[in-house]
Amino acid sequence: MSPQSESKRPDGSAILVTHAMQLLTLRSASGGTGPRRGAQMRDLGIVADGAVLISDGKILAVGTTDEVAKHELLASKPAHVEEIDCSGKVVLPGFVDSHTHPVFTTPRLIDFEKRSSGASYEEIAEAGGGIRASLRGVRDARTEELVQHIVSGLDEMAAYGTTTVECKSGYGLNFAAEMKSLEAIREASHQWPGTVVPTLLAAHVVPPEHRENPDEYVRIICEDMIPTAAKLKLASFVDVFVERGAFTMEQSQRILRSAVDHNLGVRAHVCQLTPAQLSPLLEFHPASLDHMDFVSDEDVALLAKLDTVSTLLPAANYFLGLDKFPPARKLVDGGVAVALATDYNPGTSPTTSMPFVLSAACTHMKMSPAEAIVAATYNGACALRLQGRKGSIEPGKDADIAIFEAEDYRELAYWFGVNRCRQTLLNGTVYFQGGNSH
Ligand SMILES: [Zn+2]
Repeated sequence: MSPQSESKRPDGSAILVTHAMQLLTLRSASGGTGPRRGAQMRDLGIVADGAVLISDGKILAVGTTDEVAKHELLASKPAHVEEIDCSGKVVLPGFVDSHTHPVFTTPRLIDFEKRSSGASYEEIAEAGGGIRASLRGVRDARTEELVQHIVSGLDEMAAYGTTTVECKSGYGLNFAAEMKSLEAIREASHQWPGTVVPTLLAAHVVPPEHRENPDEYVRIICEDMIPTAAKLKLASFVDVFVERGAFTMEQSQRILRSAVDHNLGVRAHVCQLTPAQLSPLLEFHPASLDHMDFVSDEDVALLAKLDTVSTLLPAANYFLGLDKFPPARKLVDGGVAVALATDYNPGTSPTTSMPFVLSAACTHMKMSPAEAIVAATYNGACALRLQGRKGSIEPGKDADIAIFEAEDYRELAYWFGVNRCRQTLLNGTVYFQGGNSH
């Protein structure tokens, strides 16, 4: 397959997507602007024979093909209109992958092989594998090498229909390598036509040189890394891995407090391997809490009242060979806003495919296909606080659109291990032309 980019088009030109068998607009039936929960997660706002008119990277009009054809821009006979005929296809907002770790250099094949012979995540970390195994590659790499790795990950994501990606640092684990990782994310975001949201995850694990004194590493994060990332506008969010073997709740609070003090958004990896009480994190108003495999019933009730999204990452459970998956039904039925993301990373989730995540969510977490699509688009945008621009196909929003070879939206979660995405529009740039070329 050969991604192909057309970033420049003539002035006054437009793109007209027509005849979508099902256009999933995800427009809000209630007009609400918060994350979707409960029954709202089953409403895709489907238009049959749907069309979308796009100009200057923004959506101008949405409706049936007949309705959109009457738009004044088309009546005024613009210099150039590129029509994309979507007969027999499903068109939806591009996926928002709100949790990825793309700044690494090599796959972790030793970990993979060890795990397939029975070793656990924690046993592998104890043996020097795990997150620390990616550290050397990132510390030694030149920024340009990291940029290349990130862009190739982003290109793959676009090929699967993803248009917005949150990118975390977190394999550098010292000041220089974390800042280099964030700079690489920034450069990659300039080279890729989609939208990238950078996150500082220096608090991924404690690096070996601070193993005897983890609080010193926490101090460096709070006093050096966060202020610098904020000052240079290298990160929108700060993330922390709250877990046995990573950071304690108290250390995590120190880090999140520093983030809030520097006007950065906050998010956390929590309840992945062991249960944790969430209230000490919720006081920082996180945009999202991620993994949530071990969330308690009391915390589900608490989250149902908040706009903090719970981002579930079933591809990690799949790859780790776990029997248990994140409790999506408990969360959705409890009124919590749920998002889905890939957790793309070399250790626990080496996939760039949101359609695979949809499949895992439906087969292993018993989400409905509609719930999974809302979680992978609009609620993903909420997890990045970008729902004003992303996550639905509505006039005024960014022209982020995925076109799938499917006649029914349920097929998006039904086919797995194959790519049925045929075209992706990233901020109005027609990026991936798939088809049968591979
Ligand atoms: Zn993660």
